Amino acid sequence: MLADKDRIFTNLYGYQPWNVDAAMKRGDWDNTKALLELGQDKIIDVIKASGLRGRGGAGFPTGMKWSFMPKEPRPDRPSFLVINADESEPGSCKDREIIRHDPHKLIEGALVAGFAMRARAAYIYIRGEYIREAETLFAAVAEAYDRGFLGKNACGSGYDFDVFVHRGAGAYICGEETAMIESLEGKKGQPRLKPPFPAGAGLYGCPTTVNNVESIAVAPTILRRGAEWFSSFGRENNKGTKLFQISGHVDRPCVVEESMSITFRELIERHCGGIRGGWDNLLAVIPGGSSVPLVPAAEIMDAPMDFDGLKAVGSGLGTAAVIVMDKSTDIVRAISRLSYFYKHESCGQCTPCREGTGWMWRVMERMRTGDADVAEIDTLFQVTKQVEGHTICALGDAAAWPIQGLIRHFRPEMERRIRERKGETGGNAPMMEAAE
Ligand code: SF4
Repeated sequence: MLADKDRIFTNLYGYQPWNVDAAMKRGDWDNTKALLELGQDKIIDVIKASGLRGRGGAGFPTGMKWSFMPKEPRPDRPSFLVINADESEPGSCKDREIIRHDPHKLIEGALVAGFAMRARAAYIYIRGEYIREAETLFAAVAEAYDRGFLGKNACGSGYDFDVFVHRGAGAYICGEETAMIESLEGKKGQPRLKPPFPAGAGLYGCPTTVNNVESIAVAPTILRRGAEWFSSFGRENNKGTKLFQISGHVDRPCVVEESMSITFRELIERHCGGIRGGWDNLLAVIPGGSSVPLVPAAEIMDAPMDFDGLKAVGSGLGTAAVIVMDKSTDIVRAISRLSYFYKHESCGQCTPCREGTGWMWRVMERMRTGDADVAEIDTLFQVTKQVEGHTICALGDAAAWPIQGLIRHFRPEMERRIRERKGETGGNAPMMEAAE
């Protein structure tokens, strides 16, 4: 179990105030100037050596991402850091806790990361529904300016750096990095075709790096405590500590910082009081937010909760939003509800996603009620394969994978419903019930 002394987020539950004085007592803004004096290349080297991988879902090595930014930005083309606080993935709720209770970790991280990639400013894009969190963030940024931590000569380092907070308006797709950039520019939030990648042409056509809140917020602590300390947690290629968000059928749902690679069983036993009704009552788990495939109970129980461990069981760590489902769950209905979410959130730009998400949801609804043919299960699987990998952004994959996971692991349950229904004489069950 991660010892308290090794926790990065020491005010995750808000037992202490979030304000700058309290944050400084917890060690934030402690001689930040000295961190900046390490120099840009050294900071990137430390982050690379720490093994930190992006905490927003894709898991790309953070230090390497920063190193893609230009070493000598042109005066007419400044570099920008965009921090993704959109957190719209169903099940994810970790960035919210950071912003509510430890916003100065994020703001100090923005300065350090922005400096390392030679950015002129950071834009924190916070989801529209996070109203109180946005208020806290605005106030915390103002405090940082008042203390001279941001703005001209930030922290007395001689480096000028600004942080802007931008509120989104509630579209899930704005969590996709290029849609976020479009939205920041005041346009409709729709993903861009890549290349060019944001490091080449991002916000206002300038070099941009988009990072998740957690990836940025951990950076100052890694620099203070050293790459070796951070990489002492977790397995090879899966280093560090991580915020897990456990929801669903556990005794005590929670957000908790733990070592990467902890097994699912340990995570649930130590922090959540076990599965509701005991381990025999576990049906399946969605381990990384709604867009990764579910994993049946027997396969997840002793799986390491990290990028490679969850890939090995056909799923992914995603944002580490762990959705636990016990045997009371109507698993077909649960996945159908996710299908409705992706249909609703598709930006409509590309045909396989715009048409496919709606088609998949409608078929999933018939699977839920059993008003389908068994052969349609294969057709549904084939359609998910035609959507997956054939769209501009990953929303197409996100809509396809939960259905693929369902068919892979719960096909007998889908067939049972269809057969049962065929034996019935009653009328159709309501089709819209899951879309409340
Ligand atoms: Fe929009 Fe879907 Fe295409 Fe992404 S995959 S760009 S959400 S239509």
